[in-house]
Amino acid sequence: MSASTPSWSDLLLGTEPRLRNRSLLTLLGSLVYVVWLLALVLFAMPQQRVSPELGRVFMVLMVPGILLFYPLVRSGRMQNFADPDLMSVQILWGCLIAVVAYATVPTGRAALLQTMGLALVFGFMSLSARTALQTGVILIAMLMAMLASSFVIPLPQFNPTAQTVKLLAASFIMGLITLQSLKFARLRERVLTERRELAAAQLALERVTRHDGLTGLLSRLYGQERLEREHQRAQFTGRTFGVVLMDLDHFKQINDRHGHQVGDEVLVAFAQAAREVLRDTDLIARWGGEEFLIILPDTHEASKVLQALERLQARLRTSVVSETVPALRVSFSAGYALWSAPEDVDVLLQRADRALYVAKNAGRNRCVQAEP
Ligand code: GH3
Ligand code: MG
Ligand code: MG
Repeated sequence: MSASTPSWSDLLLGTEPRLRNRSLLTLLGSLVYVVWLLALVLFAMPQQRVSPELGRVFMVLMVPGILLFYPLVRSGRMQNFADPDLMSVQILWGCLIAVVAYATVPTGRAALLQTMGLALVFGFMSLSARTALQTGVILIAMLMAMLASSFVIPLPQFNPTAQTVKLLAASFIMGLITLQSLKFARLRERVLTERRELAAAQLALERVTRHDGLTGLLSRLYGQERLEREHQRAQFTGRTFGVVLMDLDHFKQINDRHGHQVGDEVLVAFAQAAREVLRDTDLIARWGGEEFLIILPDTHEASKVLQALERLQARLRTSVVSETVPALRVSFSAGYALWSAPEDVDVLLQRADRALYVAKNAGRNRCVQAEP
């Protein structure tokens, strides 16, 4: 068997869906840096809009953007971090370059402010509430630090007083974006928690509705569902199956003589014995008070059903079914039937039920095969 060769996109982005999304976003981020680098080297520096020294500073600042973030995210090593796509770091790194550019390159200052706002918006979809707040606060702090330093170190074509109004207004907008991002992250976190709680509740509910509280066997409702499913499967595959309806003998006497509590113990012990004696693929449901339904998939001979029931009878002859009354023994009567196409489930159960009735009338503690 030859392993299929991974596609280019699998190599670049990975195969796990969430990792793919993260890798793709980070790779696009790297491409933006490449475009910036090209603009710097091919346009801004030759035209002397950026001095060679400053140009080198920008180049160094762009290195992590091009060479660091994508390999880190793609490697999957960040998966367990609070910000697995390094979104906050990437936004802040991009904004740091923009702040340095804002301070040092007079042309395009308006565009740089817009770019910072846009970078913040990028965090909307993935930042947690805490990281969203942190990112916004750090960005505004960077802008304010740059403004404060402009009062000490003169910046090219930078009028600190005029810039104060401009940068305060921009910071206000960025603060609003941060608040929105925070609200959005909280909403997303709430939806996630609620979805998780709902899934857990659904699972718990399923466990309750699918199983009988006392014996742990399948509930009648779920037993019925499984019977329908087995019926459909048999129709499709042609593999027949057997069903048994069984009822404990003189159970009312057990309750009357020893109390309801002992009756319960017997039911639990009987369920345990039946589970141990039957195959793992057989299904047992509590059909009523002391009545049970067994489904035996892939069973083509009635004698196999009888063998299983005789094993259970033999087990019960020696089993202690109540710790309170160790000498107590319990027996059952059963009617069993094999399904054959195109019989309905209801008709099959009626046949088994009639056979159970015959077993009871014939003196109990016996298994009777249903009439065809
Ligand atoms: P038969 O051999 O004809 O089946 O006689 P029986 O006494 O077993 O049948 P009957 O239907 O008269 O009595 C069944 C009894 O099972 C009556 C009911 O109180 C008892 N029962 C039903 N559910 C439970 C239960 O969960 N716990 C206990 N302890 N008893 C139960
Ligand atoms: Mg009964
Ligand atoms: Mg009974």
